[in-house]
Amino acid sequence: MSINRMENPLIQVQNLGKKFGDVEVLKDISVDIYKGDVVCVIGPSGSGKSTFLRCLNRLEEPTGGHILFEGVDIVDKKTDIDKHRQKMGMVFQQFNLFPHMTILKNLTLAPMKLQGRSRKEAEEQALGLLHKVGLADRADSYPNQLSGGQKQRIAIVRALCMNPDVMLFDEPTSALDPEMVGEVLNVMRELADEKMTMVVVTHEMGFAREVATRVMFMDGGYFLEENEPNEFFSNPQNERLKLFLSKVL
Ligand code: ADP
Ligand code: MG
Repeated sequence: MSINRMENPLIQVQNLGKKFGDVEVLKDISVDIYKGDVVCVIGPSGSGKSTFLRCLNRLEEPTGGHILFEGVDIVDKKTDIDKHRQKMGMVFQQFNLFPHMTILKNLTLAPMKLQGRSRKEAEEQALGLLHKVGLADRADSYPNQLSGGQKQRIAIVRALCMNPDVMLFDEPTSALDPEMVGEVLNVMRELADEKMTMVVVTHEMGFAREVATRVMFMDGGYFLEENEPNEFFSNPQNERLKLFLSKVL
């Protein structure tokens, strides 16, 4: 794994905090994410994993701290977040495809509308990526004609069509039937092999162990432990992480 940690991080999270009313979900989160990193975030349900991910592209407004993305503080209200958000692809548990549009239309809409790219170029890229994820023959289908695993692969392609600098995944396989999990993880594994920077909230411990450059454990509003995957899983230090792993492994 050749990650250059001497250069500036792609994303610098500094003392990030998030409260919903009186409830402090994220207390003090700091992490540097470098180009090519695959950061897997694990932790109990309700621990703030989704909130953390959503703060990264300001789907949630942080209530404290800073997030530097490519050197720009995107927490700053003066920052044009839409511009930066285009560089951050996001894939959700639910696929959020437009049901009344063909797959190709789903894939080309944002590149044409938001990035002003020509239909021809947007379609060429979309078709190339569809081919790559094994769905070249589905360009003219509608979302409801696809399986969950196919829809999620399309959702990944849709994010990739914007040429993002980082991909954010929020439990992308949690809503899938078990037999479809593998096909989605395979696409993510390929992305990682191509050195896409990724932040992945997941319960797939096998994937985290195999693909992550770093694994982080979130609980109680903090990252309680962080390590490279082998150490993280074989030699956990924090008691809460040990307990968590004893339940999920
Ligand atoms: P996770 O993804 O780890 O399961 P979440 O980030 O979804 O956890 O949620 C963390 C906590 O924040 C939970 O207690 C949840 O109820 C609360 N929370 C999340 N979103 C909101 C919201 N929009 N308003 C109020 N509370 C919220
Ligand atoms: Mg969540």
